[in-house]
Amino acid sequence: MLVDSFSVAGKADTTEYKSSKFVYNNTEVEMKDGHAVVTPTHKELEIRISQHAPKTGLMLVGFGGSNGSTLLGGLLANQHNISWERKDGVCNPNFFGSMIESSTVRLGTTHAGEDVYAPFRSLVPFVDPKNPDQFMLGGWDINNDNMYAAMQKAAVLDVTLQHKLRPYMENITPMPSVFDINFVAANQEDRANNVITAEYAKEMLGEEVDTTGRRWYVEVIKAQMRKFKEENNLEKIVVLWTANTECFAPIIEGVNTTEAELLASLKDAEKSKHIAPSSLFAIAAIEEKVTFINGSPQNTLVPGVIEYAVRNRSMIGGDDFKSGQTKMKSVLTDFLVSSGIKPTCIASYNHLGNNDGLNLSSPAQFRSKEITKANVVDDIVASNDILYKRPGEIEKPDHCIVIKYLKYVGDSKRAMDEYTSEIFMRGKNTIVLHNTCEDSLLAAPIIMDMALCGEMLGRLEIREPNGEWENFHPVMNTISFFCKAPRVPDQTPIINALPAQRACLENILRCVAGLPIETNMRLENRVM
Ligand code: NAD
Repeated sequence: MLVDSFSVAGKADTTEYKSSKFVYNNTEVEMKDGHAVVTPTHKELEIRISQHAPKTGLMLVGFGGSNGSTLLGGLLANQHNISWERKDGVCNPNFFGSMIESSTVRLGTTHAGEDVYAPFRSLVPFVDPKNPDQFMLGGWDINNDNMYAAMQKAAVLDVTLQHKLRPYMENITPMPSVFDINFVAANQEDRANNVITAEYAKEMLGEEVDTTGRRWYVEVIKAQMRKFKEENNLEKIVVLWTANTECFAPIIEGVNTTEAELLASLKDAEKSKHIAPSSLFAIAAIEEKVTFINGSPQNTLVPGVIEYAVRNRSMIGGDDFKSGQTKMKSVLTDFLVSSGIKPTCIASYNHLGNNDGLNLSSPAQFRSKEITKANVVDDIVASNDILYKRPGEIEKPDHCIVIKYLKYVGDSKRAMDEYTSEIFMRGKNTIVLHNTCEDSLLAAPIIMDMALCGEMLGRLEIREPNGEWENFHPVMNTISFFCKAPRVPDQTPIINALPAQRACLENILRCVAGLPIETNMRLENRVM
């Protein structure tokens, strides 16, 4: 049974905050001569979130791409309740694929033995994407197509819906952006007809600019953000990179390994060439105290950027949306290893025919993707040395990733995976998957979720009883569920397994709501 909302008996929230006290049960492990001594720990904590969900603008870098135009079209269809016809009937808009909007949490069981569920979004006051007065989109693209034309070129949404969306989208044009062909594939150059020039910078900043290095780009981006916020009466903005995958930026001592190096390099004609356009957006967001999320695989968040964000206490997150094949991988590998089965060989092939695929047909950009896709099984494998035990070396499954550009399939990416595992008594088990991933239709709701979560985390505070309220760490590992290669604070383990990532987010928000964490023990059904 599903209920729209719920209250927790005996819990009284104020109009200003939804808050709870809870006991955080954990353990400390000490290794003594190869033996683990585990001490259970219990900590009283208070957690709260402001009840006010601010009017929020999500600014996408790569707004005019397949993801950007699909999210805008889908959002507007939901906000204005636009239905459309197809040969199989009338379709109504939905947010399927958004964990926040379309998944549920279990509240408990009635006396009659029926489980009761509530929408995930009812746990805390999220910004409501269905309400155009609370959530809107904007952003940058190096291509000047209006958003209707961009949606047509992406060829993702049904054409009948595109016609209905035309009046809402043809007057929206992305803002000019920073372009550097050295970071993306050569085949993207033709798209670049909407880039920030010295003349545009003068117009935005109201004065002549010194175009040495790349600091001036950061200043223009900051001015664009402020203008967008002001013109749309927004209380908050979130910036998210969904532009083309860049190659990895080299990490060079003296250039970008610390905040000081990075800020100095921005003004240097030569050193600044190593600072990727995506990092410039991250720096601008940090300086404006705006949450920044990287949805592509490249290392936008180089060490200097991370240090800058942490010191400024400005929220950052990423990398790379976990939408299709990798999502399956982080479920399947977790299931196999936690069942005591040993994956030994994983072969993953993709072919796709959208502009992202075209960009990834270039080796340097493919390499960024290969890295984020490959690391996803590492922590799962490391969790089970019973299976992966070769004294003196780290054993991992053979793992290969191939991506090919085949124009004909368009946005309908095909993912084919073969998982071979060792089972009882050296037997072999092989699972073959064929997954048709409608790429942008899978990614768009994830982009929205990342933004809604990123915004929400900025309002979430925690403290020990009577201590100072503190926000969560600026490196938002709480949004790992949405990321192929989750960014985590220094000295923190990376969790890739999808169920663990979801449980983390759900349980933190259950604490705010005053619900017990979901342990799945259900002793009431198991003990006489
Ligand atoms: P796309 O090529 O359709 O869109 C990218 C857009 O970015 C284009 O409109 C391009 O003109 C623009 N762009 C390029 N450089 C820019 C810059 N410097 N500033 C502003 N705009 C710029 O690609 P897409 O399918 O929308 O995917 C976008 C990104 O998301 C890619 O990096 C892709 O790897 C990543 N991603 C997508 C998925 C998915 O399922 N769709 C999953 C994970 C990651």
